[in-house]
Amino acid sequence: MTFQGLKLTRPENTRQYEDLRQEVRDFLKTEREAGTYAPTGEFGGGFSFEFSQKLGKRGWIGMTWPKEYGGHERSFDERYVVSEEMLAAGAPIRAHWIADRQSGPLLLRFGNEQQKKELLPKICKGELCFCIGLSEPNSGSDLFSAQCKATKTKEGWRINGQKIWTSNAHRAQYMIGLFRTSPATEENRRHGLSQFLVDMSLPGITVRPIINLTGQHDFNEVFFDDVLLPEDALLGEVDQAWKQASAELAYERSGPERFLSTYLVLGELAHIHQHTDDARTQEAVGRLVAQLWTLRQMSLSVASMLQAGVSPAVEAALVKDIGTNFERRVPNIARQFRPKADTPAEDRERFETFVNLATSLAPALTIRGGSQEILRSIIARELGLR
Ligand SMILES: Cc1cc2nc3c(=O)[nH]c(=O)nc-3n(C[C@H](O)[C@H](O)[C@H](O)COP(=O)(O)OP(=O)(O)OC[C@H]3O[C@@H](n4cnc5c(N)ncnc54)[C@H](O)[C@@H]3O)c2cc1C
Repeated sequence: MTFQGLKLTRPENTRQYEDLRQEVRDFLKTEREAGTYAPTGEFGGGFSFEFSQKLGKRGWIGMTWPKEYGGHERSFDERYVVSEEMLAAGAPIRAHWIADRQSGPLLLRFGNEQQKKELLPKICKGELCFCIGLSEPNSGSDLFSAQCKATKTKEGWRINGQKIWTSNAHRAQYMIGLFRTSPATEENRRHGLSQFLVDMSLPGITVRPIINLTGQHDFNEVFFDDVLLPEDALLGEVDQAWKQASAELAYERSGPERFLSTYLVLGELAHIHQHTDDARTQEAVGRLVAQLWTLRQMSLSVASMLQAGVSPAVEAALVKDIGTNFERRVPNIARQFRPKADTPAEDRERFETFVNLATSLAPALTIRGGSQEILRSIIARELGLR
């Protein structure tokens, strides 16, 4: 496949990828049989440092990073294979997910040598959890209105203010956060924000839980009260975070987690109706599977572009918009095709558990990581429609 003159690869149909895929599947099967985890239907599986450390030993975290920082110098396509197998199996990967996808690559680009040598190998071993400090009570979609402040002092940087909806802040050892270092300018309202590495154990940080619709504690409010960060906590250039952040977004928006969140529900739906001769049911399941397959092809294309060094912002926004709509729709459709009376009780129970949980969590899918309206306005702008 070619795109803008670049030769693009696909992580499929070659021996190298199929061997890796089989290795991951065998590992997950062994772990399930040993009782290490059972898929719960929770998005991104459960949270387990123990499980992440097992993946670290296998070399499945920091797969694309340089060996000198604990990485494995494998391709983005190989990383894609591991990610999609983990998600499809409902494995408990949340302890390392953000660090592997986002925080580690940011440190690689903007961290100093000491930060890279100290933190990246620990991420690769599955020992570190990172959280993302972007949203604030009055700054969500419009990140450029962030007010949480970092003030330069003789000792370093003083942080004051609040973040909200911070997933895993109660478990993370570090945050990479966006803080205001100067006012925005008339010419550029994006000016004046900087990214910092925050050690979550520092005095002055308070994390308060926000309980979600299912009763789970996943995200939080985080308060900063005169928190002192060392000078080198600044990542990249002061006031220029808007330039740095946009490069990450394509990675954040186009991965398999943007269409596989409710995959377990689809799997159960197909399983309980595998022998059905009802045309309506066949059509509903077939349609969902076809849509899933198309989305996977789109997401793989974006992964190939990233691997080839292009920055596919519109394509990634499209994958997230269409993908999260799809995964949000799956439990709604599944509820219309509930198990028949002769379905084994165990299958029925698993189906109901997954569907109920997915129904409660689904509204968040099209909001987290950028809402639908925002994505569509990015797509419209890039297509020259506004
Ligand atoms: C499960 C989950 C996990 C999250 N985890 C994190 C995290 O770890 N770290 C973090 O920083 N944040 C996190 N968030 C927050 C998330 O990024 C924000 O909720 C999101 O960016 C939207 O911001 P908001 O909630 O302030 O809504 P608002 O920005 O107030 O938007 C409200 C509504 O108005 C619409 N809207 C806003 N502006 C426009 C516009 N210009 N044009 C058209 N429509 C518009 C939006 O699309 C939305 O429908 C998480 C959210 C969820 C649901």
